[in-house]
Amino acid sequence: MPESSKHSRALVLFSGGQDSTTCLAQALTRFDHVETVGFDYGQRHRVELDARRVVRRELSERFPAWAAKLGDDHTLDLSVLGALSETSLTRDMAYRMEANGLPNTFVPGRNLVFLTMAGALAYRRGLSVIVAGVCETDFSGYPDCRDDTMKAMQLALSLGMDTRLLIDTPLMWIDKADTWRLAQTLGGEALVDLIVEHTHTCYRGDREHRHDWGWGCGKCPACLLRERGWAAFRKGAWN
Ligand code: ZN
Repeated sequence: MPESSKHSRALVLFSGGQDSTTCLAQALTRFDHVETVGFDYGQRHRVELDARRVVRRELSERFPAWAAKLGDDHTLDLSVLGALSETSLTRDMAYRMEANGLPNTFVPGRNLVFLTMAGALAYRRGLSVIVAGVCETDFSGYPDCRDDTMKAMQLALSLGMDTRLLIDTPLMWIDKADTWRLAQTLGGEALVDLIVEHTHTCYRGDREHRHDWGWGCGKCPACLLRERGWAAFRKGAWN
């Protein structure tokens, strides 16, 4: 079997945020069959899990060609990860940002767990590509998002399951402005609008404040990154 047809079925790690939604849209242009997986680990806000459902529905309604390829959605309960965040380990500690720009709900190595679970699911579902919206360009603070980490995980999963699993990271070397540009290339303004309105990025789960770039508190690192990327994207688009 030629390589191109062997890797025609993909599993997208899908959180309902800007990055994973762009990855999902791209996967729907590249693969014949695409499934999604999300992880419920006692997120600070149910907003993230709600966004996943809405984004999948909107993608299907606005892009019928993609709807034909969009397969099952899976949600895996990883509530054990909530027990490992600093806020859980230190009961009287409130949610806050650390000096490194990460919230204290951050769980070290979280993506390693996600990828291992996704690998097992992909194996069972006959999906040979795992798509992850991780990126080295913007978030140097997350060591489990590094390209080397992804390559090591690809090798470990392929060996451990004795099957060829690819970890595809289309956003690894692009910044947030380029992520918006990628969405525009894939689905025009319709996709950009969908991402602005329905994806969720804010660490604080804010769906009360609407900005040009979408909903969020406008102050947390995730919001600031999204805002800066949007500004650079629109500036570039209008020049
Ligand atoms: Zn925010």
